This record gives sequence, structure tokens and C-alpha cells, in this order.
Amino acid sequence: MPQPPFRRISSLYGPAAGAIVAGLGLGLALAAETAAPVQAVASRVETVADHARLVFQMTGPVKPAARLVANPARVIVDLPEVAFRIDPHEGRAPAGSKLVKSYRYGQFAPGRSRVVVDLAGPARIARAETETASDGTRLVIDLAPTSEAHFNAAAAESAAEAARSEPVPAQSAAEPSAASDKPVVVIDPGHGGVDMGATGKHGEQEKAIVFEFAKALAAKVEAGGRLKAVLTRAEDVFLPLNERVRIAHQNNAALFLSIHADTLAEGHVEGATVYTVSTKASDAEAARIAEKENLADKAAGLDSKEDVEQVGDILFELTQRETRAFSAQFSQTLICRWKEAGRLNKNPARAAGFVVLKSYDVPSVLLELGYLSSEKDLARLTSPDWRDRAAGKTAEAIEAFFAARLREARAPAAPPRPQ
Ligand SMILES: [Zn+2]
Repeated sequence: MPQPPFRRISSLYGPAAGAIVAGLGLGLALAAETAAPVQAVASRVETVADHARLVFQMTGPVKPAARLVANPARVIVDLPEVAFRIDPHEGRAPAGSKLVKSYRYGQFAPGRSRVVVDLAGPARIARAETETASDGTRLVIDLAPTSEAHFNAAAAESAAEAARSEPVPAQSAAEPSAASDKPVVVIDPGHGGVDMGATGKHGEQEKAIVFEFAKALAAKVEAGGRLKAVLTRAEDVFLPLNERVRIAHQNNAALFLSIHADTLAEGHVEGATVYTVSTKASDAEAARIAEKENLADKAAGLDSKEDVEQVGDILFELTQRETRAFSAQFSQTLICRWKEAGRLNKNPARAAGFVVLKSYDVPSVLLELGYLSSEKDLARLTSPDWRDRAAGKTAEAIEAFFAARLREARAPAAPPRPQ
């Protein structure tokens, strides 16, 4: 029996991969809240002599586990689940500290939260604990300056320790969904949890903007009735890059679309850009963005391992070539539809080495919705009307891509050219 043309490409050559997991279908409902977690309601950095003290005001005690990480120098503080009810602006640039450059916080995996402190210089952890005083409970992380050599030794030691004990973050807590005859589109809202992605100047967060867009897009894709949409994350949780790729495989995805937004410190750039994977970046800007997006794992304090998927055989190369042709085809379709929906970057089709696009057998494209550094883009990206329209055009592009593949598969082979 002929296979439908839009299965994940490698399944045309061999048995399909395992059961479908991580499927959210259109459920999209966020997990019901169980016992309310402890909340963090305020944070600050205090400078006491040459020490820096990072303080979180909490609604109850938590047990922190703090360690040092090198390249770049950071302090990782693992916590049980904490709800951070703190202005996302806080932590970006604490004034007056010689040791703390910035810090961020959020969910790291279901039931686990994390604080990541970017260090301005080598430090040691003098204290990490919660203390209860008359004015409430505080999580206190005391950092003291130390030598470079001392810092590096401590970081190496905790890296070895973490390698032995660190649980793998987020295998998405998803129930198996029934196998579907419909082609599966995996929609990947970038970042999440402790990894906020880019930020706008009023504290807008990439992770939240792309999540709202991904949910709207999934709803529209499902509403068409011909395709099944699966989100890589259904809540504000950190997800490693390789895990996103794995979810696409596990769901036998016929298309993978990662959603992001960028920011630029200077210069005025706006509009959406569509990226495909390439070992050689199409231009310097594409290389910069891929490098930044590929740091997502590090932003959450995870040292990602190199991908081991490398099979130098001919089948692999054929599959990869075919996959990339489909990715390019979808990229063009998406750009055409976006012309009608919202602004495109003046050079909207680019390529670079994004980790998340490296499936050799799932056509994969990354859509940067726009720049949070542009006032106009920011107004668009945070507007429900714009989101609805742009997600609608993106869903149309997805439908058009599958319709074209179906036509190609049904079309009789081209007649031989007359001599
Ligand atoms: Zn991003």
C-alpha cells in the first residue's frame, strides 16, 4: 500500500518510530493546578562589603541547591516548584553589584524551578538557604569574590557532580495520544520557564509572546480538520532544544515549525524572518540569531551535549536532501502568505545552523515573528488582532504546503521530453 506522501520522511523507508507521545491535540488546556506552590513575590540584590546578596521574598520556605557553572560564569540555584510573581524586568540589570550581572528565574521542569545568576566576576557561594524573620521568609544567596582558579575548580567539581546526579529536564509530561491518520504538525514555542528568550523594553518576554502565538496557530491548524497540531510545550516550562526535536520525531511529524522573536540592541530592524537550516549561514545577521537561539539551553543552566545523530550513509543523505527541499518549499509558502498578514523583514528568507532545525527527516522551519526592539513590531506582536490574523495566514501556509505535496504525489510522472 502506498504511504501517504506527507509522513515524516524517514518513515517512507522504514518502520515508523514509536508511539505518539506529547500530543496535546487541541486540548491545550493548561495542567490543573495542584497544591499551590510557594510564591516568590519580590527580589533584590544587596551589596554587603564585597559580597553580593541575592534575596527573594517568599511565601514559605524552600530548600535550595546552589552550584557554580563556568563558560559563561553562572550560579545555578535549583528549587522545588516556585511560582515567581515578580516583575519580569527585575533581575535584568541590578544596580551597583560587582558580582551579579543579571539573574533570571522560572520553571525548569515540571515541579522544579531554577534561578540562574550571571556573574560579572569569579565568585564562590558563601550561603544559600531560606531564613524566616519577623517580616517573612527569604531565600538568600550570598556570593563572595574569589580567584579565577578557585572558581574554575569549584565549577569543574560541580559539573562532575551534576553529571552523576542531574535529572534530565522535561520529558514533556504528556499522555500518549491516539495515532492519527492526519499529518502531524509540531508547533514549537521557543524558550520557556527559566529561559525567557529576548525581552522588550517594557518587560515583554519572548517566551510568552511566542507561546500565545503557538496556541492560536495550533487552534487554527486543528480547525481546518485535515491536520493534527501538537505543541512542544503546553505551559511556561523550560524545554531543551534536543527535546523539541525529539518530540517531533516521536509524533512522526510531517512538519516542524519553531516560533521565536528577536531583539536588537541597536539599529532599526523590523518584520518577520523565516529560517531554514544550513551549515553555512546565509548572512551575518542569520549567524548571530542562530548563535543566540542555540544558547537557550545554556540560559537555563543546561550544558547541552553535541548531537550524536550522524549517519554517513546514502539513505541518510537522500533523506536529508529531500527534507531540506521540503523545508525550503514551506519557507517560500510561508513568506508568500505572510506578505498579506504582517510585515516581513526586508530579507525574509534566511538560513543558519539552528540546533532545533536539525532533524534530518522532518521538514523544519523557524519563524522569527519580529523584533521586540522595534516599537512597531512590539505593538503588533502583543496585539490579539494581529496575532489572530498572522496565525491565520501561517495556518493557511501550512495547509497550502500539504495540499501541494498531495498534488505532487498524485500527479502522474512527467512525460519524457520530445527529442
Ligand atoms: Zn528565541
